[in-house]
Amino acid sequence: MQKIILITGGSRGIGAATAYLAAQYGYAVAISYVHNRTTADGVVTAITAAGGQALAVQADVAQEADVLRMFVKVDEVLGRITALVNNAGVLEAQSRVEHMTAERITRVFATNVLGSFLCAREAVRRMSTAHGGPGGAIVNLSSRASKLGSPGEYVDYAASKAAVDTLTIGLAKEVAAEGIRVNAVSPGLITTDIHASGGEPGRVERLKDSVPMGRGGTAEEVAQAVLWLLSDAASYTTGTCLDVSGGR
Ligand code: NAP
Repeated sequence: MQKIILITGGSRGIGAATAYLAAQYGYAVAISYVHNRTTADGVVTAITAAGGQALAVQADVAQEADVLRMFVKVDEVLGRITALVNNAGVLEAQSRVEHMTAERITRVFATNVLGSFLCAREAVRRMSTAHGGPGGAIVNLSSRASKLGSPGEYVDYAASKAAVDTLTIGLAKEVAAEGIRVNAVSPGLITTDIHASGGEPGRVERLKDSVPMGRGGTAEEVAQAVLWLLSDAASYTTGTCLDVSGGR
């Protein structure tokens, strides 16, 4: 059976690294992006040039209509997905809670929590044996922030990732007997653009000495964990959260 994966936020960072690795592992790959069409197209071009099959879809995961349109597009072009990676995630400028606006907190939760729920819902509708599907696997991108709390930086983001942890545990139990495994990966300090979104592009360099392994991680190292959790090698693993954080 053809393995078909949808990776939200696959235009760069961890999502793009996961897309490249999934293609190497024989998946037909769909990625979504919200703004960066050029980089998303670049990922698709690189995968197809290497002999793989790939598709990029513009869709804001925080918008239900976009999510529905994205899944229909993937159904039509690649077929029914067998794997979902809820990777799209955002944080905002480093701030103490007392300075956060309601609009900011709502934006962070809309992408990180609502987006993950909506995409998981659409995946279950396609994968669940209760709906005539063949089963499948979901991996959610959480963060070590969900346990560390990110004080002085982005407690809103950390709390949104705690919601992702709970989505992982609850959904895993809900669909375990319907052929679907649901797990999460919790990256620590990974070198991507996300730290610039928080206003500190050099954040990994500043904090790397707090990591027992003494360095930040790479997007590829996170992708390896995601692909393992999706694979049959993890066939008895569900509802778990795998730290990829150099010991931090
Ligand atoms: P990144 O480099 O900032 O990339 C974010 C990706 O998400 C981009 O592809 C972006 O698309 C997409 N995106 C953002 N908002 C979206 C939305 N509303 N709808 C659809 N796509 C959206 O981030 P990253 O560092 O690779 O992080 C990936 C995931 O890992 C996130 O969930 C993040 O919270 C988590 N994580 C990262 C780290 C880290 O240190 N890097 C640590 C822990 C957890 P555009 O390119 O179009 O903007």
